[in-house]
Amino acid sequence: MKILLNNIDLNEALFDKSNIGFVPTMGSLHDGHISLIKKSLKLSNKTIVSIFVNPKQFNNNDDYKKYPRNVKKDLRVLKSLKVDFVYLPGVKDIYKSVNKIKIKLKKQDKILCAQYRKGHFEGVIEVMTHLTKIINPSKIFMGEKDFQQLLLVKRYIEKNFKSKIISCKTIRDRNKLALSSRNILLKKNDLSKAGKIAKHLIIFKKRLLNKKNLKNLIFMKKNELKKKYDIKIDYLELRNTKNLRLTNKIKNAKIFVAYYINKVRLIDNY
Ligand code: AMP
Repeated sequence: MKILLNNIDLNEALFDKSNIGFVPTMGSLHDGHISLIKKSLKLSNKTIVSIFVNPKQFNNNDDYKKYPRNVKKDLRVLKSLKVDFVYLPGVKDIYKSVNKIKIKLKKQDKILCAQYRKGHFEGVIEVMTHLTKIINPSKIFMGEKDFQQLLLVKRYIEKNFKSKIISCKTIRDRNKLALSSRNILLKKNDLSKAGKIAKHLIIFKKRLLNKKNLKNLIFMKKNELKKKYDIKIDYLELRNTKNLRLTNKIKNAKIFVAYYINKVRLIDNY
């Protein structure tokens, strides 16, 4: 496994490679990331994983500072998986480019996390544009856990580059909680509460199958969860999986949720 610390290392390592699989991450790797990496190793000639905590996608500096970082452990994990390359750029490697990019979301895209985290997806699309340009991968592996991110990045990157975005299923722990680097920030009680909320919503979604007036049921569920688990909910909404429009039909729809437990923001979809 080669560790690439800057763009010169990167260009040298990749210039003669083809069918490159790319897994972008912010590190603190867990089984969710590992599932993406394993898929890339299977489908690509060479796999490159990036670890970069992207300051531009944090709308809150405190959140950026507190974001879990475990590079040493991550490198051990990546080595054991036999990943070909790890890219650990500095902020300058990504943003020193003379070709400045200005990303603007459309009005209809300012929903879900885009509504609550101003500038977040603009930052994600910007970093993905820089990374795709330098790495030029055939495939980029991304998780459905961050469904809105997956759709926005897919739309933008596939329009502007030849790389294809490959979506990967959400990996959950035994309590059905979606794995996330932020879960490390939760205390034991809160972790178990988050698992209960995930189970609760998985069962709720199943029960919606033969129900009418789903909008109202979801509205009531939001209030119930707030009280029952003492959480602050940014959104709990049923949306179409193709265009993310609000819907009252369960077919081709997912429940999207973002909530805070003790200042830790968790998102999921079912
Ligand atoms: P992050 O390091 O959180 O930026 O995530 C890097 C990639 O891993 C993104 O494409 C995420 O959607 C994906 N990912 C994060 N958590 C999971 C999970 N539990 N299951 C599958 N993919 C995930």
